[in-house]
Amino acid sequence: MSSPLRDITLPAAAPIAFDNSYARLPPQFFAEQAPTPVRAPRLIQFNTALAEELGLDAAALERDAAAIFSGNTLLAGAEPIAIAYAGHQFGNFVPQLGDGRAILLGEVIDRHGRRRDIQLKGAGPTPFSRRGDGRAALGPVLREYIVSEAMHALRLPTTRALAAVTTGEPVYREEPLPGAVFTRVAASHIRVGTFQFFAARGDTESVRVLADYVIDRHYPHIKDSQNRYLALLEAVAERQAALIARWLHIGFIHGVMNTDNMTVSGETIDYGPCAFMDSYDPATVFSSIDRNGRYAYANQPAIGQWNIARLGETLLPLIDPSIDAAVDLANAVIKAYGERFQGHWLAGMRAKIGLATEDDGDLDLVQSLLAWMQEQGADFTLTFRRLAAVAESQSNEAAFVAGFNAAESVTSWLGRWRERLTCEPQTPTKRAESMRLVNPAFIPRNHRIEQAIAAAVEDDDFSLFEALLTVLAKPYEDQQNFAPYAEPPQPAERVLQTFCGT
Ligand code: AMP
Ligand code: MG
Repeated sequence: MSSPLRDITLPAAAPIAFDNSYARLPPQFFAEQAPTPVRAPRLIQFNTALAEELGLDAAALERDAAAIFSGNTLLAGAEPIAIAYAGHQFGNFVPQLGDGRAILLGEVIDRHGRRRDIQLKGAGPTPFSRRGDGRAALGPVLREYIVSEAMHALRLPTTRALAAVTTGEPVYREEPLPGAVFTRVAASHIRVGTFQFFAARGDTESVRVLADYVIDRHYPHIKDSQNRYLALLEAVAERQAALIARWLHIGFIHGVMNTDNMTVSGETIDYGPCAFMDSYDPATVFSSIDRNGRYAYANQPAIGQWNIARLGETLLPLIDPSIDAAVDLANAVIKAYGERFQGHWLAGMRAKIGLATEDDGDLDLVQSLLAWMQEQGADFTLTFRRLAAVAESQSNEAAFVAGFNAAESVTSWLGRWRERLTCEPQTPTKRAESMRLVNPAFIPRNHRIEQAIAAAVEDDDFSLFEALLTVLAKPYEDQQNFAPYAEPPQPAERVLQTFCGT
């Protein structure tokens, strides 16, 4: 007997099974906005592994990738929107920012059951564009691709890169540059500034709707807390404290930690003028627009706390009907952020120097190494990677010491460290192994990124970009064939400034 369905040709499943919860929120949360088509899209990179993790039909997407990831073809089920948000930029409040050049296509549930956003960045103007053109240049798109994927491989929470295409159209900054569109994947695109958008309008009801949505999406375990909005503040503070500690552990400088560039999910977002530090200096700033060092390497934890305080302000009316009581409760969370951060930071630093147990002197031991590194201009990444080799065998000590200008200083530190290791249970081999899992050999060094961008923009040569993606996919492995990528820049290669991705 034949099946009743035999003669029916089912339509091919859509390559992306969208389920767009944000587009179901009230209309004041976003503006409907389709991408603006571009002249001649060309695929630069497609992240097949991520597409598969997201449960997408990678093969179907790849066949039509240039059209899909430029916004020229809108897939069935996409509901393109630009999200409304506000934000403090360098401390100054701007009541309306919003997605001026980003368009959320929709959401999917990935293979692990997690909801993820798929967004085009540089897909044309939106009602939030203000005077901007809604477009992105190729350089910043490649930078975001490289650094966000590197952050993921380094095991930091981050937005991801699904695709990059060029548009065949110029964008005009100081000079005409090749245009590009970046496809970003995020746990969500909700920022501290999204809360501020409604709070600044006195729209407490929308703050409540947003808070409930965020709890559902990112923090379902706090749903039944006695004070769920206070619990939300606490949960976001915890994720940000943990995240910023991780940034410090790998020498990352975000560069523009405005409240609109801080997610409530705890993912790193908005890779503009971000950069990794080469030689260690806590005052390091790369961003050309950060003239006062507000977002310097070592200021990041304090700025995280400042941003969390701004989130707390938006939640006050929900935390307690008495404003005084609400302020006290929120303040306690903001204060505790400092201890949370310190706890995460010290735990990570212990791991970086190979300690599996805790001792009261550890903080001082860590700080004294950092002080020597700063004084002697030691490379942040190489110092810790080489220390792992020293942990394995004393014969590797010369290479470690060579990273410092004056050997005596660090030799005395090594003595203290060895003394401390005598109280540790691990074997040297095991210790070195653990240290190599937290101290990368490869980071996206600025000079390498700049070289890759220059080759792509000036010569249409993407080989350096691809090489960087390859080496940075395994940052904790010694990849001998990529050894030069582990090296700091030569003086002439040093990058002193980075620029926003606008
Ligand atoms: P960013 O500095 O990238 O975090 O962006 C800050 C604000 O400026 C956001 O509201 C962006 O959407 C907006 N923006 C940045 N670049 C552009 C652009 N080229 N066109 C329109 N809006 C932009
Ligand atoms: Mg931004």
